Amino acid sequence: MQIKRAGTRTVNTAPAENFTGNVKVEMLFTPTGPDRTSAGTVSFSPGARTAWHTHPLGQRLVVTAGIGRIQRWGGPVEEIRIGDVVQIPPNVKHWHGAAPDSAMTHVAITEQLDGKAADWLEKVPDEQYRAAPVKVAAAPATSQGQQLFGDIAPKFAQLTDDVLFGDVWARPGLSQRDRSLITPQCAKP
Ligand code: MN
Repeated sequence: MQIKRAGTRTVNTAPAENFTGNVKVEMLFTPTGPDRTSAGTVSFSPGARTAWHTHPLGQRLVVTAGIGRIQRWGGPVEEIRIGDVVQIPPNVKHWHGAAPDSAMTHVAITEQLDGKAADWLEKVPDEQYRAAPVKVAAAPATSQGQQLFGDIAPKFAQLTDDVLFGDVWARPGLSQRDRSLITPQCAKP
């Protein structure tokens, strides 16, 4: 087992022939044996983006900061935000990058086929890049129940919000001690 510590990896400027604007790449890992998966943290300054490209085995993007844009050939420009996960199928022509007025960072996870992870095509001109994006609402504020249980049991989180934080705390008949027994300790107001 190997632990590569944070802050010990090299950050490189993405090659100008395949990117527009200021883009930094920190490779997190590359294949070391028979495995074929690589991952990198890619940070786009506002307005920066990849060129059009395809991946022989597809790609997954996990947005870790900011607001970005992505487009598949023939589709609309779509907004992506922190926490969004994008799956790009094999051989689908696309680009990804930051919004014009916001930086964006994503982790890109890509499998190689015969040692190749991407086929690079033409750059994304400004008129394509600046097409009005399909916007998404910002993620809703996380509730108390979702913070406690949302990741493992969304229905229980909903129940917790409705029953514990809604009903119980609204009932004036219960003593402080009863409320403490019913409601998880860490969530006591
Ligand atoms: Mn891609």
